[in-house]
Amino acid sequence: MKRTVCTYCGVGCELGFDGERVVHLKEGVVSKGKLCIKGNFGHEFIFSDKRIKGAWVNREILKEFELSALARKVNENFFEVPYEVAYDVVAKKLIDIKQRFGGKAFSAIGGARTNCESAYLFQKFAREIVGSPHIDNCARICHAPSLKGLRETVGEGAASVPFDAIYDAELIVVIGSNTTEAHPIVSHRIIEKVRKGAKLAVIDVREIGLFRFADFKFIIPYDSNLLFLNAVARVIVEEKLYNEKFLKERVENFDEFRGKIPTTPSPEIFKKLKGYEHICDEIKRFARAVASSKTVFLWGLGVTEHVDGSDAVMAIANLALLTGNPYLIPLRGQNNVQGACDMGMLPYFLPGYREPEKKGLMTPDVIKAIDGGEIKALWVMGEDLAHVHPDRAFIEKALKKLDFLVVNEIFPCEVTKYADVVFGVKSCYEKTGIYINAERRLHLAQPLFDSALPDDWEVIAEVAKRMGKDFGYKTTEDVWNAVREEVPEKFGGASYELLKESFLNAPQWPVADGKGTECLFKEKFPTKTGKARLVFKPYSPKGMVKELLESEKEEGFWLTTGRILLHYNNAVQTMNCQTLAKFRTYREDIVYASEEDRERLKNAERVVLVSRYGRTAPLPIVFSKHIKKGTLFVSFHHAKSGINYLFGEEGDVYVKTAAFKSLKVKVEVVDEA
Ligand code: SF4
Repeated sequence: MKRTVCTYCGVGCELGFDGERVVHLKEGVVSKGKLCIKGNFGHEFIFSDKRIKGAWVNREILKEFELSALARKVNENFFEVPYEVAYDVVAKKLIDIKQRFGGKAFSAIGGARTNCESAYLFQKFAREIVGSPHIDNCARICHAPSLKGLRETVGEGAASVPFDAIYDAELIVVIGSNTTEAHPIVSHRIIEKVRKGAKLAVIDVREIGLFRFADFKFIIPYDSNLLFLNAVARVIVEEKLYNEKFLKERVENFDEFRGKIPTTPSPEIFKKLKGYEHICDEIKRFARAVASSKTVFLWGLGVTEHVDGSDAVMAIANLALLTGNPYLIPLRGQNNVQGACDMGMLPYFLPGYREPEKKGLMTPDVIKAIDGGEIKALWVMGEDLAHVHPDRAFIEKALKKLDFLVVNEIFPCEVTKYADVVFGVKSCYEKTGIYINAERRLHLAQPLFDSALPDDWEVIAEVAKRMGKDFGYKTTEDVWNAVREEVPEKFGGASYELLKESFLNAPQWPVADGKGTECLFKEKFPTKTGKARLVFKPYSPKGMVKELLESEKEEGFWLTTGRILLHYNNAVQTMNCQTLAKFRTYREDIVYASEEDRERLKNAERVVLVSRYGRTAPLPIVFSKHIKKGTLFVSFHHAKSGINYLFGEEGDVYVKTAAFKSLKVKVEVVDEA
């Protein structure tokens, strides 16, 4: 039986395949024999005839390189050519662009569904072969604020404990994460533990699935994570509920933090926010529970995708440190977001988070530089840049200006429409390689299906060879061994041999002497002093909170976006899985509005959402008692819905992660019932 990990979320469940169907692996330390529907059926896209199964060039390249005799027409835009020919084309174009404009006229943007080996080689190619620091990955639109916020406070941008820490907790705090839909197997753990007596606190802008099991249920206004978290910290400080011993021995900066905390609004502020008044008293009860319990903190994009996302992550870490509970789990979106960052696919870190001499541009600035003409060539690896990023209209405009765009993909999608060269590559279920899940766990995946297509790293290596650099890697393992050499402190002990043997109980980094590290920070924090640091971030009213404080009028709606159980990112993979695609209600993005707004929205059946940046297609609307008055939820999976045309450049103040979780929109009724 072949074994791999499910690619569809940062949980990274182990699964087997017996040649016909997926097998649940009871001994899997992550999955424990359970899989959600995506784990069970998410491999079916393998058999789709829509897959990209070759190397494609567009009409201009065909003409420029006189390739007609070698080419076979694929569709209106593309022609298939032998891979060797496409490698030559890419190398020649990049050499030419580098000679004419310099290495910095190139950028490389990767996704987190590629394995670590490909992520590593991609950043190496950009930095060493082309000479560009402009390398980034899709953490830019998800957990870059977790990396920033955790490094500033506890010194390491990763989960400090495994998911199993949930089993040890007395109180589980889930903030900004619809865990039942986005990370189902973690939500199983939570529910299991709650049934055995642990308390659960859920903090979200709408009534999500976990609310049913929660002792503390907070529906908070949009844009109030930092307000809420700081208010909890203020109660802990004012009521002297903090863990003095832990603070004295393990944490710096408490006096400064304590001095600043009175400047943040107390829980009383919620009494001024219409519809949210009751939060005031509940916060106090919650703060006391956090301080008196062994508490584990989990969060998702409901925290990070805000202008103050990094600050809110720091505020979560502050609560953990104040109460002596350094049990922190950012729930990553894809199964290798952690690995993509660990491999240095970031503009400001080399592999292992070493500082680079020259920092590159983050993706939003790459797009601006393309639009401004400074970046001429872009290589996108496993990331539908023209769909999943904000401000789609601007991205589309910029992509048209590129001199040269290369895309590695498994299906045609929005970004391939703009490509000059497309490389069809192996999917996650067809290759060997390492994925690092949201617990820092290194799974060595085996191919479940044979494929003659190259892996991403092989494409990169072939192009590099034609640009004068033979990396000399013959196998995926060779690439991984280069990572181990470059980042010995985290991966030195993580040989393929060890990872093969320990697949079902895969180690978490740092891996040394054949053993991983379950929990970080047991004795010290990875900072210069060995201590963690409380970082106070002031809150100023913004977005919906500002509006609630300043205005009585109810104009427009506040929109948040998110994923749903059956789909993954741009839904191209999941819509090509026969079983998943059967569910009719999941075939388009649906707007959810409050039952209380039914009349205001004229009992509509379809609406168009409009922001100052753009508008969506007409979308079905459903009225729900789980949504708060004046707010909306919509998923972002289907390109034709155009959700991301609504969002602009607003993003985290440090790391520019798009503010996908809060946007003022107007709703135009298309079709009244
Ligand atoms: Fe896959 Fe995540 Fe579901 Fe596990 S929880 S089966 S990793 S989608």
